[in-house]
Amino acid sequence: MTTKKLSITVLFLSIFSFANAGIIKVVTTTMDTKSIAEFIGADKITATSIATGYQNPHFVDPKPSYIINLTNADMFVTVGLDLETGWSPQLLASSRNTKIQKGAAGYVDASVGVNLLQVPTSLNRGEGDIHIYGNPHYWLDPLNGKQIARNICDGLNRISPANKAFFEANLVKFDATLDLKMKEWASKMAPFKGSKIIAYHNEWVYFETRFGLQIVDFMEPKPGIPPTPSQLVKIINEVKTNHIKAIISSPYFTTSSSDVVKQQTGVKVCTMATSVGAFDTIKTYFDLFDYDINLITAALK
Ligand SMILES: [Zn+2]
Repeated sequence: MTTKKLSITVLFLSIFSFANAGIIKVVTTTMDTKSIAEFIGADKITATSIATGYQNPHFVDPKPSYIINLTNADMFVTVGLDLETGWSPQLLASSRNTKIQKGAAGYVDASVGVNLLQVPTSLNRGEGDIHIYGNPHYWLDPLNGKQIARNICDGLNRISPANKAFFEANLVKFDATLDLKMKEWASKMAPFKGSKIIAYHNEWVYFETRFGLQIVDFMEPKPGIPPTPSQLVKIINEVKTNHIKAIISSPYFTTSSSDVVKQQTGVKVCTMATSVGAFDTIKTYFDLFDYDINLITAALK
């Protein structure tokens, strides 16, 4: 490289690093915590999510690019429990980034302080159960978004105390926006309180509890175990007996078994969004519930 070229490169790199100076690099495991981090951190952060919004967050194939992102990160946000057990601890270890390891200032477990549901009394991964510490799909109760935002805000305060007032002000705005949206969602869902539905995977208990739905059974006989013929027979009977109008599924599950139930009973199969980015229109944590509530209320009418 000539001296001229080298100095241009150095100049470019200096401008680049100057432009990014002080910007906090956040890596999240999922798109939902990314969306909330972007609300709280705003222009003080850049955030990337490892999983896409249409991927099953229990099963993500590790890629080298994920490790590079983690190596350069200032903060890491995990949903926690055993949601990402199969992939994120290995990625985190491979990054060798001491700033974001468990216990470090840049490590945020978004589940801290969340009122967990379905916490088993004994740890048993029998038959492939992947919810051994309690149900990890807690972000699907919109009000749990407040605790997630609190945890992310605490993490940002730890690593950038100079911006604490800015993050705290954004947290107040986030909570206020959520409260306003919650009123709208609750009134849309109110006519359907007590409606019985079937879910594909046991990932809707927080949504169900918040909005007063009643999930009668799951297409999966156990979390993580695909539907079996005997489970399908059981579901068909339950749909007929309880006059169930909808099976709710997710973009990463095949609808073939739900379609069998549909053909036999006329039940509607709703592919709900479980994360921001599941579908193109879902850009934020608020969009997620707008989408799902419009879909489920149309199916239950
Ligand atoms: Zn799950």
